[in-house]
Amino acid sequence: MSSRGESRTADDTLTHGGVEITAGRSVGTMNDDTAVAIGERLVGLSRNLGQEQRGLAILGEGNVSADCFDGTFLVKASGSSLARLEAGDLSRVRFAPILGLLERETVSDEEVQHELGASLVEAGHKKPSVETFFHAACLTEGGARWVAHTHAVAINQILCSARGAQPFLGHIFPDAIVVCGKVPAVVPYVDPGFPLASAVLAELRRYREVHDQSPRLLLMENHGAIALGQSAREALAITLMAAKWATLLHGTYALGGPRFLSAVDVERIDSRSDEHYRRRALSQDGPVETPQRAADASDDG
Ligand SMILES: [Zn+2]
Repeated sequence: MSSRGESRTADDTLTHGGVEITAGRSVGTMNDDTAVAIGERLVGLSRNLGQEQRGLAILGEGNVSADCFDGTFLVKASGSSLARLEAGDLSRVRFAPILGLLERETVSDEEVQHELGASLVEAGHKKPSVETFFHAACLTEGGARWVAHTHAVAINQILCSARGAQPFLGHIFPDAIVVCGKVPAVVPYVDPGFPLASAVLAELRRYREVHDQSPRLLLMENHGAIALGQSAREALAITLMAAKWATLLHGTYALGGPRFLSAVDVERIDSRSDEHYRRRALSQDGPVETPQRAADASDDG
């Protein structure tokens, strides 16, 4: 079990919030008010991420998800925009069929599309994003409860460069250690959709094996970042701090390159009790301000 949230696999008993749920169980028995409340918070997270001036995502880029703690999760529907997300743009999906498919070596495009439709709790919901598969991996193996995926300009300028994710493997200032964790997980470029989700799942398992905990930040080279949060606030904070970190790195490369903190300094920040307190505060559920839905491009003028 990860030190950050619980974990589970497709074929075992899931434990979450002290509740045991077995794959293949019936779903929809949770208090639907809870799912509605989680959905509202997810809309808030999404619109925060979609704010244009933050440079994290444009058009249909990026997606968000959250665990409903009853064997289902909410994920952004295919084609919807982070900035303009409404509750109706969230699809509620069962973990079991998605995780079941993820354990397989090869899956056809037709099976992926079929399973995405078949995993819907309510057939009337919009089709979930094809990145639903890596969200399921992050919400289980990744120990996350809230997931934010963005294509931030500042981060991708580095992840799409000749250096790839390497500049993020050292630290240059303390806050990134506190908020984004001591070491990010990294996945090289993989075809988006099912193959990428398989690579993310493998990296989350490797990370846990090596670090004995789940990552807070996962970087996908030539693609973008995933924030793994225990709360919506934390998923937002990880994303914003990673984008700031990337912007600072750009500046350092213009001035002779980053001056990385020593391993001793990084370890010290990572283990300080006051920094643990900050992490705990971020991970606790709390209100996320829900910005106004951004106007459609067609609303202009
Ligand atoms: Zn993406």
